[in-house]
Amino acid sequence: MARLNDHYLKLKAGYLFPEIGRRVKAFSDANPEAAKNIIRCGIGDVTEPLPAAAREAIKAAVDELGQRDTFRGYGPEQGYDFLRAAIAEGDYRSRGVEVADDEIFVSDGSKCDTGNILDIFGPGNKIAITDPVYPVYVDTNVMIGNTGDADASGAYAGIHYMPCTAENGFVPAIPEEKVDLIYLCYPNNPTGATASREALAAWVEYAGANGAIILYDAAYQAFVQDEGVPRSIYEIPGARGCAIEFRSFSKNGGFTGVRCAFTVVPKELLAETASGEKKPLHPLWARRQSTKFNSVSYPVQRGAEALYSEEGKAQIAALIDHYMGNAKLLRAACAELGLDVYGGENAPYVWVACPRGIDSWGMFDKMLTEANVVITPGAGFGAAGEGFFRISAFNSRENVEEVCRRLKAVV
Ligand SMILES: *Cc1c(COP(=O)(O)O)cnc(C)c1O
Repeated sequence: MARLNDHYLKLKAGYLFPEIGRRVKAFSDANPEAAKNIIRCGIGDVTEPLPAAAREAIKAAVDELGQRDTFRGYGPEQGYDFLRAAIAEGDYRSRGVEVADDEIFVSDGSKCDTGNILDIFGPGNKIAITDPVYPVYVDTNVMIGNTGDADASGAYAGIHYMPCTAENGFVPAIPEEKVDLIYLCYPNNPTGATASREALAAWVEYAGANGAIILYDAAYQAFVQDEGVPRSIYEIPGARGCAIEFRSFSKNGGFTGVRCAFTVVPKELLAETASGEKKPLHPLWARRQSTKFNSVSYPVQRGAEALYSEEGKAQIAALIDHYMGNAKLLRAACAELGLDVYGGENAPYVWVACPRGIDSWGMFDKMLTEANVVITPGAGFGAAGEGFFRISAFNSRENVEEVCRRLKAVV
C-alpha cells in the first residue's frame, strides 16, 4: 500500500479558525436574530475594494491577451522583468536599500512562499519560532518533518519557541543556544508589535555570528507609520548575508483574493552542504520555483506593477489610512475601558489583554454572545498568546465604530 506522510498526522487539526467557526455557528443557530448583527473582526482579511490603478491595469492586460498580436502564454517562472524591476526600485532602491531586480522572486502569496522555502533547506536545522505566531511557520515545519509530536499545550518537540510578551515588547530575546532558521514577522501578526532598528540589528548580528538565516515576513510593512521603524530587514547592515524577506500585495493593495507576492533572496546569502561547503541559496530558490511553479498570471502581475504608479501609491496610502484610522479607534476604545492595549500603531491589529479573570476563549465567548462581535483569542496563536485577544482593523469604518460602542457596553 502507498505510504502517506506521517508528519501530517502530528498536526493539531486546524485548531483556531475552525473552532471559531464552530462557536459562531452554534451561537447563530441558537440565536438567529442576534446572528444578523454579528460583526467579524476575526480573520485578517481586507474589506475595502481593489485600488482603481490595479483594476484598470488588470483589465487592460486581459484585453491584451484577447488579441492575437499581444497575446502571451507562459511567462518567466520568476516573474516578468517589468514587475521585478518595479518592486526592486519602488520598495528598496528608492529607499536606499540595495536589492537587484533578479533577487526578486514573484509568487502567488507569502503564505505559500513562507511554507515552500523549507524545500531549499536540509534536515537537522534547529528552528526558532516566536510565540504567539502566524500558524503557517509552525505547521509547514511539522509537515516536512522538522519537529516531533505536539505536547498537551500544542507545542511541538524540536521547535525552539521564543515567547513574545508585554515585558519584552513582543520582540523575542536572542537565544542563548545556537539555532539555524529564525522566523520573524514585523510589523507582527497577531500582536501588532514592531521591531526597532536596534532589535533587528541584534538579530542580524546573532545570525551572522552563528551562520543562521532569518526568514523575515514583512507582509505588513506598508502599515508602518513611524519613520524610525524599519520596513525591511535589509535596512540593517549585514542582513543581505543572513536574511530572506517575504512581502505580499495582499494587505497593502487589497490583493488577498487576487494573489501576488514576492520573496527576496540576496545573491550573497549562503548555507552549508552536508559536507560543510558554503553555497549560495539564490540558485536553489530559482530552481525550486522554475521546477514547481509557473509564476503568476500576466494580468495580475500588471495589476501589481500598477500599485507602484503615482495613482497606485496614492490609492494604497488611502487604504492604509483607512485601516489605521480604524486601529486608532479600536485602541482608544480599549484604553478608555482600562484594558492594556498593544499594537495598532504601525499594524492593522490591536492586541488587548483580557479583563482580569477571563481567559482568551472566555473573552471570545463573551464578545460573541454579549456583543455579537467575533474577535480572535490569543491562545489560538500559541501558548504565550493566552490572556490576550486580537481585534483586526480590517473592516468598514461604520463596523469599527459599532464594535467600539459594543465593547464599551460589555466590558
Ligand atoms: C496575510 C499575511 C501574509 C500574506 O499572505 P498571502 O499568501 O500573500 O496572502 C503573510 N504573512 C502574514 C503573517 C500574514 O498575516
